[in-house]
Amino acid sequence: MSTLRVDEVSVRFGALVALDAVSFTVEPGTVHAVIGPNGAGKSTCLNVLSGVYRPDAGRVYLDDRELTRLRPHHIARLGIARTFQNIEVSGAETVEDNLMLGRHHLMRPRLAATAFGLPSVAREERRHRTRVREIADFLGLSAALDRPAALLPYGLRKRLELARALAMEPRLLLLDEPVAGMDGAETAEMADVILRVRTELGVTVVLVEHDMGMVTRIADRVTVLDFGRRIFDGSPAAMAADPAVVEAYLGG
Ligand code: ADP
Ligand code: MG
Repeated sequence: MSTLRVDEVSVRFGALVALDAVSFTVEPGTVHAVIGPNGAGKSTCLNVLSGVYRPDAGRVYLDDRELTRLRPHHIARLGIARTFQNIEVSGAETVEDNLMLGRHHLMRPRLAATAFGLPSVAREERRHRTRVREIADFLGLSAALDRPAALLPYGLRKRLELARALAMEPRLLLLDEPVAGMDGAETAEMADVILRVRTELGVTVVLVEHDMGMVTRIADRVTVLDFGRRIFDGSPAAMAADPAVVEAYLGG
């Protein structure tokens, strides 16, 4: 179990300060929400955590290990997987192949081995397929394994995004607005899935979300951003009663 620590992180785009010395700590085994109005800096924050952006100041640690200057594939190898705000799964590939692609970095370089037809390679492939089917089952995607991702309803495609990130066997999962564009029933199902990821798989979740309702229901802790600044950090119950948060959300 690992603790993720964000320490005074700042990101600027020209004159715009997208993150202004933001700090928070994600405790292992929790759902930690990062919320805020549009443009608050939430996606920028996930991009820093996943190595897509390098902050202009501040540091990020996973336990004692500094992540700040690591590249995305290196951070992924340390067990941090993410989804994107917009769907990034490959539409032409089937659900199963999308999930196998998610496991790519867990597989041995195999071109040469395949050419020699080693049975160990076939065994490894079978092991990965078995695990992919377990993950699909866990997320209610079993019936869709052979379907091209593009043909899935929107809610299932969002769930496939999450499944693909889980296929990387992360210890920490970064989700960027996993319920964006979903209806009430799809949102409730996704909330349930996220809680099961935490409780049954023991994966720590950083949940970036615009909507307060779902966060209040499922987050263990919340960090609220507004115009790149942290305006709150604490329990969901305390958040709902915090005047600065209420004002930011009412646009006051
Ligand atoms: P959120 O995800 O909370 O809606 P973002 O992190 O996407 O907010 O953006 C925070 C601010 O930074 C916004 O004002 C946005 O326009 C700006 N921004 C984000 N990414 C870039 C970029 N690559 N170049 C310039 N400005 C950006
Ligand atoms: Mg965003």
